[in-house]
Amino acid sequence: MRGSRSISCRSSTTWTSRKTSPGCARRWRRRPVPRRRRGRRSPASTEAPVADHHIVLVGGGHTHVQVLTAFRDRPEPGARLTLVTDRRLTPYSGMLPGHIAGHYRREAMHIDLEALARRCGAGFRLAAATGIDRDGRAVRLADGGSLAFDTLSLDVGITPDLTGIDGADRHALAVKPIGGLLDQLDARLAGEGKPNRILMVGGGPAGIEIALALRTRLAAREPRPWIGIAAGEALAPGLNAGMRRRIRAALARRGVTVLEPCRIASVDADGATASDGRRIAAELVIVSTAARAPNWLASTGLRRAEDGSVLTADTLATLSDPAIFAVGDCAAIDGQRREKAGVFAVRQGPPLVENLRRRVRGAALRPYRAQTRYLAILSTGDGGAVAGRGRWLALEGRWVWLWKDWLDRSFMGRFDASD
Ligand SMILES: Cc1cc2nc3c(=O)[nH]c(=O)nc-3n(C[C@H](O)[C@H](O)[C@H](O)COP(=O)(O)OP(=O)(O)OC[C@H]3O[C@@H](n4cnc5c(N)ncnc54)[C@H](O)[C@@H]3O)c2cc1C
Repeated sequence: MRGSRSISCRSSTTWTSRKTSPGCARRWRRRPVPRRRRGRRSPASTEAPVADHHIVLVGGGHTHVQVLTAFRDRPEPGARLTLVTDRRLTPYSGMLPGHIAGHYRREAMHIDLEALARRCGAGFRLAAATGIDRDGRAVRLADGGSLAFDTLSLDVGITPDLTGIDGADRHALAVKPIGGLLDQLDARLAGEGKPNRILMVGGGPAGIEIALALRTRLAAREPRPWIGIAAGEALAPGLNAGMRRRIRAALARRGVTVLEPCRIASVDADGATASDGRRIAAELVIVSTAARAPNWLASTGLRRAEDGSVLTADTLATLSDPAIFAVGDCAAIDGQRREKAGVFAVRQGPPLVENLRRRVRGAALRPYRAQTRYLAILSTGDGGAVAGRGRWLALEGRWVWLWKDWLDRSFMGRFDASD
């Protein structure tokens, strides 16, 4: 995901922690459909509103969890929601390095989607979506079933693309899906033959944070394990120079070796080989490089970008089908190329909510413009963090870590579905 993902705080400003309110338990009730509103209708809303408008949300990503809580807080007359997800627990990647380092428990960095959907009065279906019958307006599911929709929204994230590194699928761990990474990492770090040499492939923000978090996690181990980053062409090219300088200093201070330039061509049971023939011995290799939208999206016939992302208009409705929206990492807004980062998925929450409501009402959809700059915060694993924004701003300190911690906990607090 290097080069296509950047680590950032999900919002630079106003995340308020809204715990589950009593209204959350409210079930969706059928309500009379409001008369169609006046106004110009966009090409994306040419169908008449229906009395029982079924919105199916596929994937419990950062955008869809906000749809659930928004429709809980202000139900849309005539609409009902169902969440389809392949996992009951969805991870919040901003807290992943903190979890690996031992700062957060596993539950703290996951949203329980079933509990959230229940508390928001939405339906819940635990099954992976495998296709879309666009003529029949139904999502196909891996369990053999299907689910009819009036409006569909996709927020299914991206998956690692290991095709460029020979043997990585057999001999390396991929950072996504995060649940899989954590299970395998725990097993490898705790089991027999604990690794003494760990190589992170990918020098983007995620690779850097995980390497630093592993240093913290393994701090007590004697002898101290070697941890290295094969950074590709250069370390974190998407970050500004001040951040990169601070991050290099943190890596050096904490004893993480940066191999740069170093493009890994293959991985085997004993380590990795770079494209220039260099051999790097490692007992554990973790890959955090390129990613693609899930393959099954190809079968939908929806127009897609080169990396497989579903192309949407600035309304977040897909270019190919006004009844289907796509958001987060699995989507790309035509003409607004952005990195794949959680911050964008989070920011798409309110505009998606608004346009889903508008589609139910048969009103014109509103355009959305994604920000171009955003706050990025990387934890250094030792109680500090480096933050930056745009070309110049770069900050570092313990207070930056405390700030990030507060932002992350506040974000997660919005989806706490515990009683
Ligand atoms: C290690 C790491 C650290 C990161 N740290 C940061 C950070 O600090 N800040 C930041 O901005 N970004 C960060 N990112 C990037 C961030 O994780 C992603 O950009 C963000 O998760 C994208 O959100 P999303 O809503 O598109 O999808 P996701 O969060 O990936 O959610 C997709 C959901 O869809 C579900 N799903 C997938 N396929 C199906 C299917 N077929 N059917 C049903 N459900 C399905 C998945 O189980 C998942 O719940 C990090 C990434 C990694 C790997």
